Amino acid sequence: MRDDCIFCKIAAGEIPSQTIYEDDSYRVILDLGPAAKGHALILPKEHYADIFEIPEEKAGEVFRLAKNMAVKMKAALKCDGFNIVQNNGKVAGQTVFHFHMHLIPRYTDDGQDINWKPGEPTQEELKETADIIRGEI
Ligand code: 5GP
Ligand code: ZN
Repeated sequence: MRDDCIFCKIAAGEIPSQTIYEDDSYRVILDLGPAAKGHALILPKEHYADIFEIPEEKAGEVFRLAKNMAVKMKAALKCDGFNIVQNNGKVAGQTVFHFHMHLIPRYTDDGQDINWKPGEPTQEELKETADIIRGEI
């Protein structure tokens, strides 16, 4: 646990939160600035800054938990859709540097827009990009 990390303190229960699920390894809390009603965050109790630091096995556990929470939250909130978002790095919108996964119930006419402006690469540019990535795998 990091003394200077707010999500470490929330995950440890030192700072109160609206907890909707907890086990030995994870706490799931309601976001203080929700995109929509029920917006929640999965917090591992151990500190990892982001997707690059979290061990592969833990990342798998987080997504399994996300699936289970989504099913329960959909039943409870009667939402119409669901976004799962996970930001890494300032440029990608991460503001709290303790790994977390956003669970965002979506409602028809909720007025939110979780989207991006699509690019228009040529087939050649797509191939070039794919070659760069494949070179690392
Ligand atoms: P990020 O932008 O890093 O992906 O997401 C951080 C999220 O944490 C934001 O949606 C923000 O509203 C939420 N948040 C920041 N501080 C607190 C806090 O002290 N308590 C809770 N429950 N949520 C927080
Ligand atoms: Zn932390």
